[in-house]
Amino acid sequence: MTHLSFSTLMSQRLIKSSFLCISLILLASSSNLFAADLKSVDDFRAAARKANAVLAIPDWEQTPEAVETATKNAIEKANAALDQIGAQDLSKVTFKSTVVALDDTTYQAGLAANRATIIKETNTNPAMRTAAENAVKTFQDWAVGIDYREDVYKAIKAFADTRPKLTGEDEKLLKETLRDYRRAGLELPPDQRKEVEQLRKELSKLGTDFDTNIVKTAAPVMFTKADLEGLPDSFFAAPGIKTGDDVYTVMANVTWQFNTVEENAKSEATRKQLYVIRETLGKDTNVPILNQMLALRNKIALRLGYKSWDDYQTEVKMARTGANAEKYINDLITGSQPKFDSELAELQKLKAADTNDPNARIMVWDWRYYSNQRNKQKYAVDKEALRAYFPFQKVLEGMFNIYQNIFGLKFERIAAPYKWIDDLQLYLVTDSTTGEPLGIFYLDMFPREGKFNHFAQFDIISGKLLPDGKYQRPTVALLCNFPPANGDTPSLMTHQDVETLFHEFGHALHSIVTHAKYGRFAGTHVPGDFVEAPSQMLQNWVWDKKVLDTFAADYRDPSKKIPAEIVNKMNEAKLANAGVFYRRQFAFASLDLALHDPHPEDMPYDCVAISNPILEKVFLPIDPSTTFVTYFGHLNGYDAGYYGYAWADAIAADMATVFEKSKNGYLDRQAGMKLRREIYEPGDSRDVTVSIEKFLGRKQSVLPFLKKIGIGPEEKKKAPAAQSQENR
Ligand SMILES: [Zn+2]
Repeated sequence: MTHLSFSTLMSQRLIKSSFLCISLILLASSSNLFAADLKSVDDFRAAARKANAVLAIPDWEQTPEAVETATKNAIEKANAALDQIGAQDLSKVTFKSTVVALDDTTYQAGLAANRATIIKETNTNPAMRTAAENAVKTFQDWAVGIDYREDVYKAIKAFADTRPKLTGEDEKLLKETLRDYRRAGLELPPDQRKEVEQLRKELSKLGTDFDTNIVKTAAPVMFTKADLEGLPDSFFAAPGIKTGDDVYTVMANVTWQFNTVEENAKSEATRKQLYVIRETLGKDTNVPILNQMLALRNKIALRLGYKSWDDYQTEVKMARTGANAEKYINDLITGSQPKFDSELAELQKLKAADTNDPNARIMVWDWRYYSNQRNKQKYAVDKEALRAYFPFQKVLEGMFNIYQNIFGLKFERIAAPYKWIDDLQLYLVTDSTTGEPLGIFYLDMFPREGKFNHFAQFDIISGKLLPDGKYQRPTVALLCNFPPANGDTPSLMTHQDVETLFHEFGHALHSIVTHAKYGRFAGTHVPGDFVEAPSQMLQNWVWDKKVLDTFAADYRDPSKKIPAEIVNKMNEAKLANAGVFYRRQFAFASLDLALHDPHPEDMPYDCVAISNPILEKVFLPIDPSTTFVTYFGHLNGYDAGYYGYAWADAIAADMATVFEKSKNGYLDRQAGMKLRREIYEPGDSRDVTVSIEKFLGRKQSVLPFLKKIGIGPEEKKKAPAAQSQENR
């Protein structure tokens, strides 16, 4: 599903990019509320005080100069605080004066960086966006430098050397702070440390080049109308497609155009031509760059004492080692084989009939087309017609009702002191039982020029225990791009939009209800192979008729709910394609890990020779001239991390069973409160594996995931059981 980046200056030195999608909200009741009718944040301050908590709405910069000044001031202040940590008497260091002071310092600088990020992604004034973009870059560069503040490191090390008796979150903070320094090379002798620092800089530069080469590629391909037989009229009518007399230009680099052709073009030659062009994008430039990046990563890992970049990257994730991640993916590849084979056999039959060639093989440029044919024949679900059931406002209110109920929360719209757009909305979240204010969220839901063009949640103010003992409650923003209303027709969402909303808003709740003491552990600041799991779990909600019936209704006649047979068909269609969908994911995960496996330092890399055979082995036959990896942007940022999608999917399916087995299914409050207490509130303040087990009430299992994708370990188990009964 959609993953978006949000960057936030997390409490430890790095401005990390997380991939969080966002979500968001809506109105308090559908009545038109005037600002004068709305409460303000001040109306909640007394309740916050009572709970020893603080609520905050940022003081947004209004001019480019103000953005610049805020950046300069934040960095100066942080540098002064770092100087103070570094200058203290090493014989008198305390937990508070070292590790906590560092968390405080990066947290404070992060507030300004987060504001700049929001301004960059949302401001309607291009000059403001440019100033904010520069500010974000300045913060990023500065944050990398914190790693190499030897004076600060010495102070923290001096404290660690006192062998303090810490427990829980405090112990975790010290341990992980030291781990960050070790990972940056601070434990190495000075010359080797310098080398690591230098290698990281080179890697970062090459990564930027790799990304730029992907973004910059443009590959127009001309077709005739006959070449494109099978495509819908709406495609031919789309702006920019018809470029001459019987000339239609398809941009191989534009994903929706590529997908529409691959899903609908009857001609295999057309599908193949476009596929080969897309899968060779960046070949000339990015093959050598990626090879160098792999070599640099390997070198850095080896210098730091790891066997491979896989091991380096997974150390801070749930997987812990590259071998664990690899075994996990390999087991899924093996386990999914029967389901994948049976789906392919079905597609092969369609192609054989289509081509009059009984031996026709499904190639990588065929699966989208034949899956689409199969779906049309067997599961006729009209995606466009479904939109009528999902008017934005009703969906939002419906989702609010569900989440308020299951998580024991109350969302109230409040007046925003400053709005960057008219329809910006601000909500305050309280605990529905105690009335304790928990946090604030902004909703910026519709597209406009210059705005962030995906769906994501952004931290503005993270949760944190402040030095004065009060708790700073979080403020977040959801930036989305749902279809806008059109004249008399309200915004009508696709089913996928609805799924995205449920997913993204889950991230907001994860952030808002946090109880972690330290910024680095608050809310969604959890390991990268876990962060998506709770939200992926919430996607299940919108495939359930009982849940859908609480809000989805035809906007022209709200007495009409989505017919049960359509919901069933939607679920069947999803399952029918699960083998192909996941095998493709596993192929990407597998080649990403293989690229970052142990590798002799003096041996040059050949990224294509490593990755192409895996694509063929795990997924489908390819064309040998293609270089998939040169256009695979995840290799810079998610490197040795792509496995995390499947990893989190498995946890999501496992966690969903807690709801599925409860009295009220996905609407069960007891299960919801358990999720809030055991997963959302702790964040990363304790090992997430512990949190997951507490939520599940047992060890984790991959079986629910396999079942969800139609791989039946349970059926297998049932079969022998039935047999043994017969034997009896
Ligand atoms: Zn997400």
